[in-house]
Amino acid sequence: MKTAVVLGAGGFIGSHLVKRLKKEGYRVTGADLKYPDFSKTEADEFIIGDLREISVVRNAIVDNCDELYQLAADMGGAGYIFTGEHDADVMHNSAQININVAKVATEKKVKALFYSSSACIYPEHNQIDPDNNTCAEHTAYPAHPDSEYGWEKLFSERLYLSYRRNYGLNAKVARYHNIYGPEGSWNNGKEKAPAALCRKIAQASDNGTIEIWGDGKQTRSFLFIDDCLEATTRLLRSDKTGPYNIGSEEMISINDFAKLIMKIADKNVSINNIKGPVGVRGRSSDNKLIEADLNWKPEYNLNRGTQKTFAWINAQVQNQSAHSVMQDQKG
Ligand code: NAD
Repeated sequence: MKTAVVLGAGGFIGSHLVKRLKKEGYRVTGADLKYPDFSKTEADEFIIGDLREISVVRNAIVDNCDELYQLAADMGGAGYIFTGEHDADVMHNSAQININVAKVATEKKVKALFYSSSACIYPEHNQIDPDNNTCAEHTAYPAHPDSEYGWEKLFSERLYLSYRRNYGLNAKVARYHNIYGPEGSWNNGKEKAPAALCRKIAQASDNGTIEIWGDGKQTRSFLFIDDCLEATTRLLRSDKTGPYNIGSEEMISINDFAKLIMKIADKNVSINNIKGPVGVRGRSSDNKLIEADLNWKPEYNLNRGTQKTFAWINAQVQNQSAHSVMQDQKG
């Protein structure tokens, strides 16, 4: 039986990845500070621990394992990453995890390692014009990410690729661009734009108003979780190294994205654009390289992926309000 280890298995992408690897017949070890928030883990073994401690990393990484996915990071949406309040923690915590993982994966002769970097590594000046931005892989340098989160990711990309050159660690790197789907953070301050917009629209009354950070003209692209997992496993199992973008090229402004969700929700809601942390003006994935090298492109368009995501978040919102009505009646 093939063995896989997922670090960050209690998180959004990690918990979905564990399910996929189990379906594929792997023996899976997961590790995280916490269990998944929205469903029971399917991992054969789940280690609750702090991966900043090297002893925990030694315990989690199985000797000679076939596949190691390093997804653990201190991260969140714009409200967490772009306010500056969490910069020291983001840099220290994530770098510490990666320093431990690169060393232990080498010691334990892991057969292949995947590291999840981010679109946030791309230079800010390439993403000023929302209609004319570039995130082609080779444009990462000279580096000028717009957040400390991006700087840490860039450092860790280089860390894994140095271990590859100097110690023969079979490390692979991808830069995720806004992954979304069911069972992700939606109301704890770490949610990202797709979940936050779905929640606001699910909670709004018909003809009500929602607030959106910035002027809403900032553009992004979003990749559905199933497509992300296909690209991730395909890269790890290939003879390629990366860094590769894993994202969607279907770019949309945040206000238009809100309108798409309103259509799905069958609600007419007004948008009030307010001041808030927004990140770069325009960003979309550039998939030329991954398409050419790994023959991968997304299968879900934004409309189909958002329908699935909205249905899940809407159910959470309805559940929560049913629960608070029950509490009121009890109280
Ligand atoms: P997530 O926050 O849901 O998952 C990360 C997990 O890491 C969490 O469960 C967290 O508890 C765990 N973790 C953090 N610190 C830890 C520690 N010290 N010890 C043990 N576990 C710890 O995030 P996600 O959306 O699933 O993202 C997974 C990876 O992909 C992250 O590295 C993230 O930076 C990267 N990424 C994600 C996106 C996206 O759109 N979701 C985009 C770019 C990059």
